[in-house]
Amino acid sequence: MKKLLLLLWGSMLLHTALSAQHIRKCGMQRKHEAMIAKNPDYARFLANQKASLQAAGDYYKQYKLHATTERSTALSAVPVIFHIIVDSAQFYNMGGASGIIRRCDSQIAVLNADFNKQNADSALIPSGWKPLYGNVGIHFGLAHRDPSGNCSPGYEVRILPGTSLTTVGYDIDSQPTPAEKMAATGLAAWDVDKYYNVWCINFTGASNGLLGITTTKSDVVAGWSNSWEMGVDILYNTLGSTGFTGSAPGTGGWEAPFNLGRTLTHETGHFFEIWHTWGDDDGLCPWNSGGADDGLNDTPPESDAQYGAPVYTLSGGTLNDGCKMNGSTNTQPVGIACLSYMDYTDDNAMQLFTPDQANVMASMVLVPVGGSGTTAGEGTIGEHYNLTQNPGLLVVCTPSGVEASPTETRSGLRIFPNPTSGVINVAVNSQAEKLIDIVVLDLLGRQVTVAKGESKDQYSLDLGGMSKGIYIVKCNFASGSITRKILLQ
Ligand SMILES: [Zn+2]
Repeated sequence: MKKLLLLLWGSMLLHTALSAQHIRKCGMQRKHEAMIAKNPDYARFLANQKASLQAAGDYYKQYKLHATTERSTALSAVPVIFHIIVDSAQFYNMGGASGIIRRCDSQIAVLNADFNKQNADSALIPSGWKPLYGNVGIHFGLAHRDPSGNCSPGYEVRILPGTSLTTVGYDIDSQPTPAEKMAATGLAAWDVDKYYNVWCINFTGASNGLLGITTTKSDVVAGWSNSWEMGVDILYNTLGSTGFTGSAPGTGGWEAPFNLGRTLTHETGHFFEIWHTWGDDDGLCPWNSGGADDGLNDTPPESDAQYGAPVYTLSGGTLNDGCKMNGSTNTQPVGIACLSYMDYTDDNAMQLFTPDQANVMASMVLVPVGGSGTTAGEGTIGEHYNLTQNPGLLVVCTPSGVEASPTETRSGLRIFPNPTSGVINVAVNSQAEKLIDIVVLDLLGRQVTVAKGESKDQYSLDLGGMSKGIYIVKCNFASGSITRKILLQ
């Protein structure tokens, strides 16, 4: 009997762990509640901010129609920098260095598709929702220059000590100051006025089970958060998508149902100031006492979050919930917005931003600050416009540490071709310097290949099949070592 109970208890625990892993949960509601508990004035601020959103979206609609002169202002893609902070097990789980490159590339592709009405799964949108498939019009690209002007692949990785998936991470309750954003323990934000900062981390402790959390600019401007916190945190293994070319399904720990890159789509929605479709009111309708909604007209009243991948059984619609009828009025003629990226459904069950959601985000990013019609009543219009004004940050560049093919005088060392598409030749003067070995390392310092020194003047090393990027060639001579950077492309 005892054994049976233990078995039952064990399977319940397992079930709980699995469910916790497999439903979407973002930290915004919890964060707001914690901030309100600290200072009740925050509730008023939040309510005002939400109340200004419809006007901001409507303003953008007019702006788009009429302000052709202003709209001719050049807009670039938003430069994205991924700060990846993991332990070695998590790094492996992400697919290692090559997995991370694929994840970052595919994540940018997902953002561009979802924010520009180009997602292939829009075919799944029920007919009643087709008119509500909005186009945001914001583009994204990897940041290829860091704030000091150095070349960047668009991501940076810090591997912290520890091997357990639960020991390295961010607990929003016990770490009110997010350690992952402090340079000492994590990776600090890049200039928040020029870059969209995305941290890929683990959520631990009381935050275990979260997929993402965001610090908005409206919070920062109003003094509720620090500017160095601004940006988005996502669970490290939700980064990127298995659904795009080159992503090699089955490798790199992409875990369904959050394997299509929509966690960052959702959090980016928050970053550009839009909110959960059900209003974070724990099951109430907007007309109930204490009830709330997301402040937008075209997302129907909704009682609570929808999870999983609902089957849309209504002809042309989605699902109805307890807020369908307000008196004798049907408020959900085509169902609720559970297919919006701002609900809690699985990655494969969300396919759109509504036009109001799209217009609000566009008003934050695509309108010059101070453009006509921007008044205090319209809140934060133009707050992220500066993210679209730095095309130079997006241009792919070759690090200055990569020399064309200089010859080292003393040893006669020459490495060519550089850049290379696979084979590198290492020439030395074996008469002048005794070569012990040649070691090739990746940027994380891990050994990729090694060639033992012999009495010869040229060595060939094949890097074909390795991920593209920068490698370090370390030539160990009896008298000392010489290192060179090479670019595999
Ligand atoms: Zn959320």
